[in-house]
Amino acid sequence: MNFSQLPLHERILKAVKDTGYTKPTPIQEQAIPKVAKGADVIGIAQTGTGKTAAFTLPLLSKLVQSTEANEERNTRVLIIAPTRELVEQIHENIKIYCKYTNLRTGLIIGGITDKGQIAKLNSGVDIIVATPGRLLDLVSKGHGNFHKVQALVLDEADRMLDMGFIPDIRTVVKKLPKSKQTLFFSATLNKQIESLTKEFLNSPTLVEVERRASPAETIHQTIHEVFEHQKTELLEHLLESSHEFYAVMVFARTKLGCEELTKALKMEGIATEAIHGDRSQGQRKRALDEFKKGKLRVLVATDVAARGIDVEGVTHVINYDFPEQSEDYIHRIGRTGRAGTKGVAITFVTKANLQSLKKVEKLIGKTLPRTNVEGFAYDNSAPELTRDDRPRNKKVEPKSGRTGDHQNKFANRKNNAQGRDLKRSSFKKSSNKRKRR
Ligand code: AMP
Repeated sequence: MNFSQLPLHERILKAVKDTGYTKPTPIQEQAIPKVAKGADVIGIAQTGTGKTAAFTLPLLSKLVQSTEANEERNTRVLIIAPTRELVEQIHENIKIYCKYTNLRTGLIIGGITDKGQIAKLNSGVDIIVATPGRLLDLVSKGHGNFHKVQALVLDEADRMLDMGFIPDIRTVVKKLPKSKQTLFFSATLNKQIESLTKEFLNSPTLVEVERRASPAETIHQTIHEVFEHQKTELLEHLLESSHEFYAVMVFARTKLGCEELTKALKMEGIATEAIHGDRSQGQRKRALDEFKKGKLRVLVATDVAARGIDVEGVTHVINYDFPEQSEDYIHRIGRTGRAGTKGVAITFVTKANLQSLKKVEKLIGKTLPRTNVEGFAYDNSAPELTRDDRPRNKKVEPKSGRTGDHQNKFANRKNNAQGRDLKRSSFKKSSNKRKRR
């Protein structure tokens, strides 16, 4: 199938042609005809499948068709997505797809001044793309005119649920006409998500493009078992040992963890920046732009900040901290191996993560290969300490040539390990060894 066989307006098709897309992706093939017909649709698809175009192209086509008849400009499509980056990405795509039309779009996100956003809302732009928090804030102050909304899109609904946005969305939805088309996209489908679809959609059609929770086949996945206190050293070792790691997304669990890791990698001379919720919108945008341009080798991110980010050519995803939710494993590694390219996903696993690893393996339906990193001095002598129960505030002199707080944390362990057999053994062996001691 090609795009011209889909029910899209010629001006939208012209823009799609300019993008260089040669044929529709499976989600586009399936969803576009249904959206064009006006059906409510549940789309189960991960980022990277082309889902943004799957809902925007038919909605924009419908708007172009009806624009001439609609003299008085009103907001007619409202798209809500969980993070600023995702909203910006959708907005950018829309601008590309409607470049041969006179449709107007507005971006509503937190972290920047709301002046321009209020003006956009009140001028009645055709399409609004928004994060729930800022949208609710402005809507509850009486801005915007939503009584002519024809279509509502809830993108990454599972993440919006996780982030506690559903009550905000409910309040906004009350301001929209009862009779409208609703499109609901989620990477996963579970009981909670199903109950949301019942709440927000009317006789929906389900469109599912991949087996639930299946990472792309082009991603080579491996597990590195490592003690918590050696994770940073292992990461540095990997980055230093090969030039193939040139566009690396590293996932850390907390904002503080992101900061610490970024600082440590910078100290090693590795061009790194972090994106997480405590970084300003400007900082996040700058980091992302620099990463996209290849000026940064490593981008350290939390799950929330990285969700939906679309960067071409990510060579490696490294799960520095194991994902808290199994589904996040799939979202994270989906940042690499996009659109059929090859990618590598490496996951650090400590003893504390072994149960969670089993859950991930069950979810993706396969056992992930455990590999040791060549040339890395695994510390078999250390007791199993997790990040949280490591002794704190203990001043240790930094080891040769390395300075700073971060290295202090590891210096003790490394000194302990000196002169001992540093050969890697499994967790099982090392715990037996401890019992014997
Ligand atoms: P999404 O899943 O919407 O985040 O899209 C992921 C990436 O795929 C984006 O960079 C899109 O520009 C790109 N894309 C969308 N549709 C197609 C297509 N039919 N052919 C090739 N690339 C596409």
